[in-house]
Amino acid sequence: SLRAGTPAPPPARHLFSDPTETETLRRNLLAWYDKGRRDLPWRTLAATEPDADRRGYAVWVSELMLQQTQVSTVIDYYNRWMQKWPTLQALAQASLEEVNELWAGLGYYSRGKRLQEAARKVVSELAGRMPRTAEDLQKLLPGVGRYTAGAIASISFGQATGVVDGNVVRVLCRLRCIGADSSSPAVIDRLWDMANALVDRSRPGDFNQALMELGATVCTPKAPLCGECPVKQHCQARRRKLFVKPTPVPDVEDCGAGGCALCPPATEPWDSSLGVTNFPRKAAKKQPRVARTATCVLERRGCHGAPEYLIVQRPSSGLLAGLWEFPSLPLAQGLQEEKQREVLADHLRAWTGWPVVAGGLRLIGEVVHIFSHIHQTYVVYSLSLDGDVTLDSALSPSRWVTEEEFHASAVSTAMKKV
Ligand code: SF4
Repeated sequence: SLRAGTPAPPPARHLFSDPTETETLRRNLLAWYDKGRRDLPWRTLAATEPDADRRGYAVWVSELMLQQTQVSTVIDYYNRWMQKWPTLQALAQASLEEVNELWAGLGYYSRGKRLQEAARKVVSELAGRMPRTAEDLQKLLPGVGRYTAGAIASISFGQATGVVDGNVVRVLCRLRCIGADSSSPAVIDRLWDMANALVDRSRPGDFNQALMELGATVCTPKAPLCGECPVKQHCQARRRKLFVKPTPVPDVEDCGAGGCALCPPATEPWDSSLGVTNFPRKAAKKQPRVARTATCVLERRGCHGAPEYLIVQRPSSGLLAGLWEFPSLPLAQGLQEEKQREVLADHLRAWTGWPVVAGGLRLIGEVVHIFSHIHQTYVVYSLSLDGDVTLDSALSPSRWVTEEEFHASAVSTAMKKV
């Protein structure tokens, strides 16, 4: 049958099969990077630190922080982190509480936790020595995926291995007119093969960073600056935009109706009004889950007269694990305001032993916060208590904090908004 056997190799326009072209592309991209690279603390460290384990650690920290977070935000966090824990050994001795405090505000808190767990593993099981190749990093370090492993190995240890992140996906799909769903495993595998084939043999770390920086600053999602692009002469998407007249469907530039696993699907052909932004293409995203949570800011006069607020700690696993928050309660769908108050009052009564009544809760407003996959609305109430409150410590750890202490605690960005 047609399904049997190995699939035919993709046509040349989807590949980097000409060694001379690959060489020129590497040279052009690195020359551009050398001229305009941003000075970032982890780059400086990776270029100047003689100790390989320390280089690996520094790049690891930066890569984890940079996932889902802007460079400009990361710099301060990175500097504070490296000052506090300059080595894996130092990090291995930190408490999760300290890690969460420093991470607070960066989001996706499990990253900090995982990093610390992995540091403990390197110290206790690998004698403090970082694995030196992408394969070993991914295999031996918990939480280190293919991308992070490739970044650490190429930038810190000079291994000629590629990386594929969102920026690289975009650049490669444009360079090679890949219009099939770029989130499908088959396409992702092709892109990794391509990145591994393309990476410069003598300067792999710089090459990978250059490719990512090109995607972040020139080959941007909506308005790429093709005129200034150092690899425009190698770009198939640009060639197609400039030199191919709009043609009737099926487009003669595609490899053949439905026959190519890397071309746009026959049902969504090249749209000439989009130009190079025809690529990459993704299947429609799943909608985030909608959730509502009632939360109550409990306030009392502290012993020095300043107001204090009650915060409680979340469970040590799951979303926002181990972080502190105002007492909160997930709400069932479609609950009326009146009912909402009642369940929250019940909850607070159990917690504080205080005769909280639903009518005593003041509705302050709503705060919306988008987590990666959850569209969360906090319905915020407040309640002042005068008198002593004994908290049921069996329910979960809790403490009273001043406003200043609140901001220094390991609380999520969503709670700061609240
Ligand atoms: Fe991206 Fe344009 Fe450069 Fe092609 S020419 S890689 S589309 S910026």
